[in-house]
Amino acid sequence: MAQDVKLTPMMEQYMEVKKKLPPNTLLLFRLGDFYEMFYEDAELGAGILGITLTRRNDYPMAGIPYHAAEGYIAKVLAAGKKVAICEQVEAAQPGKLVKRSLARIITPGTAIEPSQVEAKENRYILALDLDGATIHGAWLDLSTGDFLVGSETAIENLLPVLSAIDPQEIVIPDESLARWRAARDKIPAMEELLDFFADRLVSELPSFHFEQRGGAKSVLDTLGVLNLDGFGFDLSHAGLGVAGAVIAYVSENLCARPENLRSIRLYQSHRSLLLDPATLRNLEILQSASGHRAGSLLQAMDGTVTPPGARLLENFLAAPTLDLPEIIRRQECVGALVANPVAIARLQETLKSVRDLTRILGRLQNRLRNPRELGGIRDTLAQLPEIQAGLAEADSPPLRTVSARITELPELHQLLQTALLDELPAQLLDGGYIRPGYDAELDRILALTSNNKNWLAELERTEQERSGIRNLKIRFNNAFGYFIEITKSNIHLVPDDYIRRQTTVNSERYYTEELKEKEKEIFHAEENANAREQELFAQLVAQVLEHSASLRETAEAMAELDVFLGWAAIARAWDYCRPALDQGSSLEIVEGRHPVVETTLRQQHLGLAGSFSFVPNSTSLDAADAQIMLITGPNMAGKSTYIRQVALITLMGQIGSWTPAKSCRIGLVDRIFSRVGASDELSRGNSTFMVEMNETANILNNTTDRSLIILDEIGRGTSTYDGLSIAWAVVEHLHADPERGPRTLFATHYHELTQLSKSLPRLQNFSVSVKEWNDEIIFVRQVVPGAADRSYGIQVARLAGLPQAVLDRAKEILEKLESDDATVTLSSPAPAARPRKKIKVATAEAQLDLFGA
Ligand code: ADP
Repeated sequence: MAQDVKLTPMMEQYMEVKKKLPPNTLLLFRLGDFYEMFYEDAELGAGILGITLTRRNDYPMAGIPYHAAEGYIAKVLAAGKKVAICEQVEAAQPGKLVKRSLARIITPGTAIEPSQVEAKENRYILALDLDGATIHGAWLDLSTGDFLVGSETAIENLLPVLSAIDPQEIVIPDESLARWRAARDKIPAMEELLDFFADRLVSELPSFHFEQRGGAKSVLDTLGVLNLDGFGFDLSHAGLGVAGAVIAYVSENLCARPENLRSIRLYQSHRSLLLDPATLRNLEILQSASGHRAGSLLQAMDGTVTPPGARLLENFLAAPTLDLPEIIRRQECVGALVANPVAIARLQETLKSVRDLTRILGRLQNRLRNPRELGGIRDTLAQLPEIQAGLAEADSPPLRTVSARITELPELHQLLQTALLDELPAQLLDGGYIRPGYDAELDRILALTSNNKNWLAELERTEQERSGIRNLKIRFNNAFGYFIEITKSNIHLVPDDYIRRQTTVNSERYYTEELKEKEKEIFHAEENANAREQELFAQLVAQVLEHSASLRETAEAMAELDVFLGWAAIARAWDYCRPALDQGSSLEIVEGRHPVVETTLRQQHLGLAGSFSFVPNSTSLDAADAQIMLITGPNMAGKSTYIRQVALITLMGQIGSWTPAKSCRIGLVDRIFSRVGASDELSRGNSTFMVEMNETANILNNTTDRSLIILDEIGRGTSTYDGLSIAWAVVEHLHADPERGPRTLFATHYHELTQLSKSLPRLQNFSVSVKEWNDEIIFVRQVVPGAADRSYGIQVARLAGLPQAVLDRAKEILEKLESDDATVTLSSPAPAARPRKKIKVATAEAQLDLFGA
């Protein structure tokens, strides 16, 4: 910056604000109808926003109109930057520097404006700290007030939920990152934690903000409570330090304490079904492998019609509860709706007109106010009687408890109905939102202004007559107020008492003493009207906020109802069943289907007869006897689809949804682990093998006998014998406990592993059957008991379009390899220059050696 140049008073004011801002922050400085950026901010901002960079007094500047600022700010946030807004805090007066002050800093994790947050997605800011291997995290969605805290003695117990909530921004104590990097080798899973930071905006905060005692106090003050007993934990909880840090960071950005936080929930890993980050990714739970919602389990389970419903579903999946009565309550609600399709249609139709009450309340409470927010509350309240009627129609005990949480508030609705106009402006300052007849005082002032308008029209007419100028006009602009406009050709007719104000290309502009007087009166009346409207608005907001607790509960109940309706609709459309859940150790699925593959198959073959439909398969596992299913079969047979479908059905069942199966019994699962495909990891610079082994290590180290494990082709990334040996040892390890072990599905192309059934009593062989026809294979997609006899690699390669010559040659080689020779010499038909190669092939005896005993 050009510090040596003498700054204007306004630029001094700018510098004063700018120097207090955190790094990585663009300052938007209000100048009249624009927000301006200067210096480096202007250059950066112009680049991000694609707007013109100009120069004034030797420094670069760029501006955006204030009424369109929201959209521009969203773009800056998307670019990973923060935005500070400096507002004018008094009315501008000629010749005097307007007072300005910092109104708010908007960061990716603390944005709450509708155009800056995805309606259907939660948006968390996370504060993190480490104390040895103990990890503390607190995460808050400021737009909804959803606030959680958790302390876990191992990083890998907290990382699953953190990956699932996918925070937009992370706050850590300053200078901690370097320390944590240095502790990479000493603390388990530190590498994964650092990886988790990699693509996110990480902000540092002075470390005193993370202290436990200060945090506890700040949480109490912010929630307005005397202790935390009501939330199930006490003031000595170690996580309150990071909870305090979240509040400190958010308060700094709001330039005020957040007013919409009413509760804090304790996250405990042992009360949740844990889905580690790899499993979330591999099973495409929240996003598909390509990073989109389409193709994910979330999408397949989402029948919601409101954004709060979609966000709640995301929360259900991010931290699935292990609370059996709660899961059963959800199932019962869904069940009551499944039985009543008329009610489903009626309620979904009504919910479509409901607005996002939780986020509206969040904005109103945090001083972001405009007339449309109140309109949203009014329009939502209008739907509540119809929702209650729909619930009554589907009358059932579980739905009655949902209904009991919806409060109709008819007086508040009536108040907003009489106070507000039907159509509302987006800006508070524009005025024009209070309905005539609501307030006598406002009506009186408005009558004055409208009298004045008549008076002006009358004046125009009399002046036209007096001067004889037919096209004399009375006009208004912001710079000069009211004036009389006379075209150049009529200037000679202008009366003597006209006072000239301004000359334009085609006309002259005048005023008279009388007009000046009236102008004052009009301005005064408009100011009064505006002030009165704002006063009334503030009263209405206060009245709404008096009901914030019941409005919030109503919103939560409607979001739940929305999720349940969606599940009920999907269950009917796709013929799902209600799974039986218990504390047992089995997993029985009769004719299960893959929820995502089934729908895509149907879409691809829409209209073509049923031959392409998904083939259902059953599963029967039990930690104490049928613990491990070892599944062999050719590539493309359907092995990975099958093992994934088992994991997805389990997860769906455990959050309360119905499941794609004929019938289903699930003994509660505490963790789902998966080790399947790793192509997306390659871009992170890890070899396939390394990723595979990391994931496998994580599984073996953290599994319990309540877990569900699906393993696909482990050991593929290394030489055959290495891979086979590792796979062999992994299976043995999972079976090591003589009594019971994690329920496991293991898909493999190592046929040698099928031998394990001889030594491991809880392991059973299965295969995905295929039919052979004329040297070709037909996929039947049926999982049947017993090992596969062959791998059909060459037939599958033919399906993939390998040239016939290559296939023929491969067959020739295969036949030789399968012959009894321990060593075969294969001559290549390629140019003679190429040396002959010797391939050593293991004999049956050699294999026995390796895996003997
Ligand atoms: P594998 O893991 O044995 O190589 P996949 O599970 O990847 O095989 O399945 C290959 C393809 O077969 C999938 O893309 C899927 O569309 C189809 N498929 C798998 N299972 C079924 C099924 N039960 N019914 C219909 N199609 C299936």
